[in-house]
Amino acid sequence: MSTELHDVVIIGSGPAGLTAAVYTARANLGPVMIEGVGAGGQLMLTTEVENFPGFPEGILGPALMANMREQAARFGTTFITDDVSRVDFSSRPFGIWVGETEYRARSVVISTGASARMLGLPSEHRLLGYGVSTCATCDGFFYRGKPLAIVGGGDSALEEALFLTKFATEVTIIHRRDEFRASKIMRDRALGHDKITVRWNSEVAEVIGDTAVESLVLRDTVTGETSDLAVAGLFVAIGHTPNTSLFEGVLDLDPNGYLVTAPDSTATSIGGVFAAGDVQDHVYRQAITAAGSGCMAAIETERWLSEH
Ligand code: NDP
Repeated sequence: MSTELHDVVIIGSGPAGLTAAVYTARANLGPVMIEGVGAGGQLMLTTEVENFPGFPEGILGPALMANMREQAARFGTTFITDDVSRVDFSSRPFGIWVGETEYRARSVVISTGASARMLGLPSEHRLLGYGVSTCATCDGFFYRGKPLAIVGGGDSALEEALFLTKFATEVTIIHRRDEFRASKIMRDRALGHDKITVRWNSEVAEVIGDTAVESLVLRDTVTGETSDLAVAGLFVAIGHTPNTSLFEGVLDLDPNGYLVTAPDSTATSIGGVFAAGDVQDHVYRQAITAAGSGCMAAIETERWLSEH
């Protein structure tokens, strides 16, 4: 049985992939999107989204993703609700497998995103989107006049702690060691800020609250002693993991595992394979920037297909 050849297969269904689908579908490229079992990406884990232009009243993350999917479907995107198990980009057309099912594609857009690292507590998982957040830029605004905590000791945690001081009455940084990993300039800024205090050698043992975060149980990593900290929100900023295990040894990855794209482009190290969104962006990590790069990938795919 011959395998059908597609102009473009899109792997991953967050804002980057769905925007690439809308654009390539409207360009008559009949995109096939392999959307993954956990379709929709990181916005499926949020509640209110207030910074995506076009929704003056805000919109729930899952509703925004449902809208994007409906828009991509309207123009003829085919969705496969499953995970890609393997790719072969060494010959053309490219091969993409979902279990035993093979897809052949002249071009590929990778938009598999990144996953925020979490502490791994059941209470943290239960209150995600209800006081527990992995994005200060997205959710800080909801906590005006309230005390907040942030976990982590890297540049992200300190940058986000400084951002949160715009809204919070006080920001407590909870760090498991007695020194920050972050750059000196960020350390100096955070430690010099009058709204920021640091709980050194501390970890979050439990997040307390039924429908919203009320407090944290902290554990001293040296003595094991526990204490309570009243907060309205907990921001987890302990790093992200790009979802690139499929592409190890296939495409160029940077030392942190992100796909490398050419400057001002979504082109990867293989012609005809493009990457958009958080899988190649560890700096901005916003739905709107992911969507923007998905649009770039679609336009570059279209050009690449017409030239080859
Ligand atoms: P990092 O990996 O640099 O830092 C992660 C932090 O989280 C570390 O302090 C680490 O602790 C802590 N951590 C990890 N796992 C756990 C856990 N299970 N429990 C508690 N704490 C934990 O990630 P970032 O996202 O901060 O940064 C990623 C990259 O992006 C870095 O290279 C950073 O420099 C860069 N970046 C640069 C910025 C800028 O220049 N403006 C802004 C943001 C990021 P420990 O230190 O003990 O390992």
